[in-house]
Amino acid sequence: MTKLIAGNWKMNGSLAANEALLSALAGGLPTALSSAPCDVAVCIPAPYFAQFQALAATMPALAAVALGAQDVSGQSAGAFTGEVSAAMLKDFACRYAIVGHSERRQYHGETDALVAAKAQQALAVGITPIVCVGETLAEREAGTTTEVVKRQLAAVIHANGHCISEIVLAYEPVWAIGTGKTASPEEAQAVHAVLRAQLAAATEHASRVKIIYGGSMNAANAAILLAQPDIDGGLIGGASLKVADFLSIVSAAAA
Ligand code: PEP
Repeated sequence: MTKLIAGNWKMNGSLAANEALLSALAGGLPTALSSAPCDVAVCIPAPYFAQFQALAATMPALAAVALGAQDVSGQSAGAFTGEVSAAMLKDFACRYAIVGHSERRQYHGETDALVAAKAQQALAVGITPIVCVGETLAEREAGTTTEVVKRQLAAVIHANGHCISEIVLAYEPVWAIGTGKTASPEEAQAVHAVLRAQLAAATEHASRVKIIYGGSMNAANAAILLAQPDIDGGLIGGASLKVADFLSIVSAAAA
């Protein structure tokens, strides 16, 4: 299947920095994508969506980059101060929304049920949720990795029924995010296989669900991770802000 490389800029950027980054990305993408296709997305802070659209109108190569959000409300509209609805994201041709990132679960107390509601809101307007699951270091050391990721995914399956085949699933071990520690290809593949099997019990289309890996993926380790049979792409934090590194990851996925 075509791989997906999605950058997660997190709370970084400015009008000037974004323009520099996106024009460098547009400049390098035709070469990075020359061997094979690869889906590319950048999940940027929502205030810059209009800037992305304006730049895309003047840089044809940016057509190969889908716009993504880093979060979406679990509600559709109304008195929810500070929230951004899926319909608002859709107004800017947003294609993906990360939901359940560990930083949202950890710093904003997001529960499995809320993450499932967010995925539901995204799907309802045709935005693909990138549903993040992953265990903490303590959970891995306690031997509960499988139990944790299955519980997190089960909530999303329960709330979304047959639409579950429309999600992208991201396995992001919390201990590997922003730490420079990466799950070994074997460790990551093992969890991806567990998630694939769980999806297969819920949908006959499990084989076409992209299960991407996130957690210190970089230019040096991308190829070996992406070579695993159930790793269908990457969710890239830190390295997505360094254009040369991000392009190397795209090239590895498009090899
Ligand atoms: C992330 O935040 O989703 C992530 C994978 O970050 P990093 O690549 O920096 O570990």
